[in-house]
Amino acid sequence: MSGSDLPAGFQPPDWRARETALLAPWAMHAADSAGRVHPEPVHPFRSPYQRDRDRIVHSAAFRRLAHKTQVFTGYHGDYHRSRLTHTLEVTNIARTLARALALNEDLVETLALAHDIGHPPLGHAGEDVLADLLRDEGGFNHNAQALRIMELLESRYPEFPGLNLSREVLEAQAVRKKDGSAPPPLLETQVVDAADSIAYDTHDADDAIELGLVTLDELLELPLVAEAAARVDKRFGSLTAADRRRAVIHELVDFQVAELARTSLATLRSLSLGSAADARAAFGTGAPGRRRVVAHAPAVSAAKRELERFLFERVYRSDRVLAVRDPAQQKLAELFRWYVAHPDALPEGYRRRADAFGVSRSVADYLAGMTDRFLETDHARRLGG
Ligand code: MG
Repeated sequence: MSGSDLPAGFQPPDWRARETALLAPWAMHAADSAGRVHPEPVHPFRSPYQRDRDRIVHSAAFRRLAHKTQVFTGYHGDYHRSRLTHTLEVTNIARTLARALALNEDLVETLALAHDIGHPPLGHAGEDVLADLLRDEGGFNHNAQALRIMELLESRYPEFPGLNLSREVLEAQAVRKKDGSAPPPLLETQVVDAADSIAYDTHDADDAIELGLVTLDELLELPLVAEAAARVDKRFGSLTAADRRRAVIHELVDFQVAELARTSLATLRSLSLGSAADARAAFGTGAPGRRRVVAHAPAVSAAKRELERFLFERVYRSDRVLAVRDPAQQKLAELFRWYVAHPDALPEGYRRRADAFGVSRSVADYLAGMTDRFLETDHARRLGG
């Protein structure tokens, strides 16, 4: 039985009616979608955004997130987040926020699962290398790369290149490029950006404590963490150091999610938006620095920026992170130059696209798809380790 052959008497749940009943007027309703570049029949019981989500999860780029760096690599142990587990934390937070704000949870889930698929091996460290190597040829940016994966590089269906996702999904990814090529973001897009920030601010702090790069006491110098700890202490009294740390991390997520939902809902109600188009039009109308409708209160945003400055200095640029990063970056650059000199060694699809997009771009596409692990193995194979 194919997906469209339904048993006699089976009445598929109507996703349009479900969305009408559950979503706020400011949400993006799938029935109003601008559709796909290659038109396809509507699925009998999955909404267009549910299909988009499934296409992302079944993509090769998504699976490879399991072996791509978030901040720390396999050399740092196995407690910390990978790019995949980061993505799953973002997705859960984003879904909670979407439900609280009566937004389209299916669309938000898709955007969250897809938001980091364009990251090369080594995360931002790999992105810096490729951006430098391609600086005269359009550069390299993980958000633009995600769009390239969605529209061109994933080869899953005989009828079209890429994943043929709904235009709202492509547009949300174009928003993240921040080059002005996209229309003002839907609220669903704003939710995913906020969830990304809540997730990494908190889990990077947690991973850094586990790895001994910072202590909870040092983090308590920051107001956001100190206030979370005060609430934990008040609620639980005295805890073991390990229990207190876990409770503080949990409280940090919970506070940011609840505060963001509360503040954003108050903004949404004051704007009385009647449609997703109204929601787009409301973007940028707030006070300077408050362009987004889905936003924390200014004091919380400021406290998050302080935490981010601390993480930047003490974690992202720590000796232990740089000691792993620098040689890995060098391997990525060496492998790039090797493939540019030996384009015949590229897999068939990349060789073919080199004719259309140039050798450098196709080599970058291939390297960006590699996991941290494959980069090591392939470097050893091509350049002797
Ligand atoms: Mg992310």
